[in-house]
Amino acid sequence: MPLPESEVERALVVIAHPDDADFWAGGTIAAWTDSGIAVTYLLLTDGDSGGFDPDVPRTDVPAIRRAEQQAAAAILGVSDVRFLGQREGTLVAGFELRREIVRVIRQVRPQRLLTWSPEWNWQRFRTSCHADHRVTGELALTAAYPDAGNPFAHPELLRDEGLAPWKVSEFWLLNSPSPNHYVDITGVFDRKIQALQAHESQTKHRDALARLMRERIAPNTAAARLPADRLAEAFQVVANA
Ligand SMILES: [Zn+2]
Repeated sequence: MPLPESEVERALVVIAHPDDADFWAGGTIAAWTDSGIAVTYLLLTDGDSGGFDPDVPRTDVPAIRRAEQQAAAAILGVSDVRFLGQREGTLVAGFELRREIVRVIRQVRPQRLLTWSPEWNWQRFRTSCHADHRVTGELALTAAYPDAGNPFAHPELLRDEGLAPWKVSEFWLLNSPSPNHYVDITGVFDRKIQALQAHESQTKHRDALARLMRERIAPNTAAARLPADRLAEAFQVVANA
């Protein structure tokens, strides 16, 4: 079982691309901010391979996608959105990038960290198993444990920036092959759709976005044993105890 919301002051969402968090956890994040949890997004890439309009210069895409992500996050109650500016499709689980994530973990000091599962989910391989997702999960989890809590890991962060060790209490994993927790998002589903529409370069061509999303997350409703008219998002929650 996850920590009670009353024990979570801050949550950090570490994702690969603009729109990852909103597609997979937008309803849950809206519920968190509604309950007073301060949520920070950390995006490793700018999603610079995304979009569909051949008339948009590719060099404009990173700024467009960052602005869309800021707008979408604001709809869900998230104002702290940070970017590491890596190129889409190039992520590797290296030491330098891990340190950048440790820095943000120690700055934000979250009790809860939401990221991609570092395991493939073969059920959704074709639609959701981008290599950047898996690498992001591996980086974020390794940054949280053991690095962020160990004063002797990345010692320059403590020495030069005064960033003290921090232990994240709990991980929430997206697209896990073994989900074990479901959040009923029926009451905030409309805001999730609004947030997705804010990613205009990705979703403008989908006029039936709400219907598509209902279909996509319908299996979660059954798995969560909720009544058929409810909508749910799925996670694997792991205690870092
Ligand atoms: Zn993605």
